[in-house]
Amino acid sequence: MPRSSETAFVALGANLGDARAALDAAFVALARLPGTALRAASSIYRTAPIDSSGPDYLNAVVWLDTQLAPRALLGALQRIERAHGRERSYRNAPRTLDLDLLLYGDRRIATRLLTVPHPRLHERAFVLRPLAEIAPRALIPGFGPIGGLLPRVAGQRIDKLAA
Ligand code: ADP
Ligand code: MG
Repeated sequence: MPRSSETAFVALGANLGDARAALDAAFVALARLPGTALRAASSIYRTAPIDSSGPDYLNAVVWLDTQLAPRALLGALQRIERAHGRERSYRNAPRTLDLDLLLYGDRRIATRLLTVPHPRLHERAFVLRPLAEIAPRALIPGFGPIGGLLPRVAGQRIDKLAA
């Protein structure tokens, strides 16, 4: 019998090379994951790097319905990062794509490899704003409704790109 699907939200970020192309490739790869449907994708947002220098980031969040277990989904995200996220193919090329598992149903997970909700979700406008766009009623386990978190990150600069 097939596993039932869970709702998962994944954050995408890129700031090196052609960041837009990296995000577009990631949307396609996420939609092709086994047992997984892409239910919604947020707009793409431009944000200044936090705690680092370099070019602005492009960020987005997707809503997946997936039969993959959390750990399998994390492994799949890491394979997509490796496949699409490298600048050309030279050794130790900088990573151009970051995929973070934000939420998995209403689960709280704390293992060596995986923490859900993502530990910095609640303090990052570049995660909360696109998440709120596609899931305005999301409940963040341990934090409550997403609407209560948005005011806390109102000072972080983030611009929604034209579609
Ligand atoms: P960051 O996303 O914080 O910039 P990385 O993408 O390099 O850093 O991730 C570092 C590690 O974070 C990964 O090896 C992974 O095992 C771990 N990790 C823990 N929880 C999560 C999560 N919810 N989503 C993605 N990675 C996670
Ligand atoms: Mg990551």
